[in-house]
Amino acid sequence: MNQLENNKSPLILEGVSVAESIRARIRQETANFLKETGRRPSLSLIQVGDDPSSSIYVSNKHKACQEDGIDSFNSHLPTETTQSELLVAIDKLNNDPLTDAILIQLPLPDHIDEDSILRAIDPNKDADCFHPFNVGLLTQGKASIYPCTPAGCLSILDYYKYDLKGKHAVIIGRSNIVGKPLAFMLLSRHATVTICHSRTVDLQTVTSQADLLIAAIGRTQMVDENYIKPGAWVVDVGINRLKEKIVGTTKIRKRVVGDVNYDRVINKVAAITPVPGGVGLLTIAQLLSNTVQLAKRRLNI
Ligand code: NDP
Repeated sequence: MNQLENNKSPLILEGVSVAESIRARIRQETANFLKETGRRPSLSLIQVGDDPSSSIYVSNKHKACQEDGIDSFNSHLPTETTQSELLVAIDKLNNDPLTDAILIQLPLPDHIDEDSILRAIDPNKDADCFHPFNVGLLTQGKASIYPCTPAGCLSILDYYKYDLKGKHAVIIGRSNIVGKPLAFMLLSRHATVTICHSRTVDLQTVTSQADLLIAAIGRTQMVDENYIKPGAWVVDVGINRLKEKIVGTTKIRKRVVGDVNYDRVINKVAAITPVPGGVGLLTIAQLLSNTVQLAKRRLNI
């Protein structure tokens, strides 16, 4: 019986408690790692250029590492950095015995070929799990680390005890960082998976069949009640910055919203992640988790 049939209010899938439970485990693991090895797990971040959003993401990642017992190092390279200079920087980290995990902050400047750069990272130090070797393991259901945002979606569902087996999961979005890896992860958990994208015909008819609908589109509040099957669980991955005029004033207020129109679907769903406060909080927690897993694996702990 779903929440609606049961006449209950929808369950709000808060990311805060999920992130806290993951990070408590990480703090325990980093403390054990320090005891066993005499050092902390380490993550090296490379940022190229000065994209303001990237700078905020990088500084949030360093802060989280500090809080949870991970050493983090920063290489902030100028926008003009060439592809070969970046490859040299990655090679140095690949060969550094004290670097457990490497993350290249995306997007990279246009003159750099992102795919070649991601392929240059040692798969055993691939904190984001974007290297084709790790993606290959993921598609075979044999991965031991997972891309951060899809893993965050699953952590929320697990925390709230959503049983994926046999459920029809529909994902809107087929990007390499969210939609596609998430589809394979859901398949491994025995969901029946449909992936939709910008060329999907009659999108609402497809999404209306979803027991679990995941929106990873990058379109402000696109998903309304017409996309939802009554009693569905909805995971909103979207992070969109909305500018609104404050009524009665000339002032503009900025607010972060998802790909789902929360107010319009809330009475139709059984459960939903809020934005902000949902999946976004999990992405960094999963990055820390990947760093610790890679460090333990390298040192056979
Ligand atoms: P991409 O732009 O790489 O992919 C968007 C996908 O949505 C594409 O597959 C695209 O289809 C599809 N799409 C776009 N418009 C439509 C439409 N009208 N109908 C159906 N499908 C459509 O985005 P990302 O996967 O990188 O990110 C998606 C969202 O998730 C963004 O809001 C982003 O900010 C957010 N995000 C949040 C993270 C977090 O930590 N919570 C982390 C990463 C992303 P097609 O392939 O045909 O172009």
